Amino acid sequence: GQVISKETRDLYEGVLRGNRRSVSKAITLVESSLPAHRAQSHQLLSLLLQRLSRPSRTASRRTSFRIGFTGPPGVGKSTFIEAFGNWLVETQNRRIAVLAVDPSSSRTGGSILGDKTRMDKLSRAENAYVRPTPSGGTLGGVARNTQEAIMVCEAAGYDTIFVESVGVGQSEVILADMVDMYVLLVPPAGGDELQGIKRGIMELVDLVVVNKADGELESQAIRTQTDYRSALMYLPPLNKYWRPRATRVSSLSRAGLDSCWSTMLEFHRAMVESGELQRKRGRQNVRAMWRQIGDELIGRLKRSNVVEGLMGTLEDKVRSGEVAAGRAADVILERFLEDEWKGPVG
Ligand code: GDP
Repeated sequence: GQVISKETRDLYEGVLRGNRRSVSKAITLVESSLPAHRAQSHQLLSLLLQRLSRPSRTASRRTSFRIGFTGPPGVGKSTFIEAFGNWLVETQNRRIAVLAVDPSSSRTGGSILGDKTRMDKLSRAENAYVRPTPSGGTLGGVARNTQEAIMVCEAAGYDTIFVESVGVGQSEVILADMVDMYVLLVPPAGGDELQGIKRGIMELVDLVVVNKADGELESQAIRTQTDYRSALMYLPPLNKYWRPRATRVSSLSRAGLDSCWSTMLEFHRAMVESGELQRKRGRQNVRAMWRQIGDELIGRLKRSNVVEGLMGTLEDKVRSGEVAAGRAADVILERFLEDEWKGPVG
């Protein structure tokens, strides 16, 4: 095969040792879209894949657990992950990695969360790794290569991967499609609020966690939990191994974290033992491949000179109704492909 550079080999070994700087560097590499990085990234990933797919000597090595968290801003996602992560590290012997994705993706400029010190204590815990969100700027497109970042974390020995959705996105589907379990955090609030949570998200949810179940909010939290329980009962089941549930916690007092975790473990066990987890991850990998193909093609298409020359006029005509959208799309695609065939190389 291919010759692996010393730099890549060193990075690989650093990741396997769980060296944080190597983990950060490796994630930056796999997230990069620069052509020079792509080659090195692919080398690193194939080394990691070989390693991860090898049956481990200690048969007891547990299957990692990838959990995605979403919820409206202010619900307490950061507070919850900080509390829950520390609790898992301190009492359950888990090793946690926290990644963030921005499903809205199109945001530019300073992200509101960018400068916030996220999960202060967890990020300093020995058995945790918190991927800092870049200050200012985007998180690099729609969860670009988050699957690969997850792989890096798992190779580094993190058995529990939290993927937090930051930003208010419509593309929640993509987050749900990168994790084993999709968790929606909600505040204690009345039925009206429940209406506000998009049905589309509810249909993807494996677990609803009502946060802030403390003090004056506690009784409201219990009512909210009941509301979600009944709402979940009317949704079509995602798979035959799990019925979505609702639980409640206080991230401030840590109340309910233990039962929240038991529920999660129950889910994980059901998915692992039925073989559904491996099947689900397999399907996710295939969809990730097609997403990347789609992104890459659209990117190239938009950068193409031929298309650029054509786009303005065609958009005008589509806008005014002179040309049908489908017809314009065909024209753009044909011109792009024609041009690609001629190609710069050959
Ligand atoms: P995010 O925007 O979803 O990340 O929310 P934050 O984690 O920044 O929390 C928003 C606010 O809710 C903060 O003022 C937190 O202190 C508060 N908060 C978070 N969790 C709890 C909780 O369990 N109980 C109470 N009472 N407040 C909480």
